[in-house]
Amino acid sequence: MKNNLSRFWRDEGQYWEAIEERCPDAGLLEYILLSAHHDRKLFEQFQQHFLVCDTCQRRISLIELYYVILDREIRQAVSPAVVDMAQKLAEAEQA
Ligand SMILES: [Zn+2]
Repeated sequence: MKNNLSRFWRDEGQYWEAIEERCPDAGLLEYILLSAHHDRKLFEQFQQHFLVCDTCQRRISLIELYYVILDREIRQAVSPAVVDMAQKLAEAEQA
């Protein structure tokens, strides 16, 4: 993540222009969403693109769906068989 952050900030001038003209790649999109509370300027810049880009609107919907499914999965109890399998995998990796 640290490398990604430095890459995003390295060419800030080009970056601001690029985000208006084309879709951010997956890493940059994730960074924009995760840093929205800390960097409103960056988020608002993307928001201008998002409002007119069907592709990014679909990408955000898929990300939201992913987290809904992930949240549902995390809240479910894990079966003992899955715990046993995970322990065996971890032991095999340590050996
Ligand atoms: Zn886009």
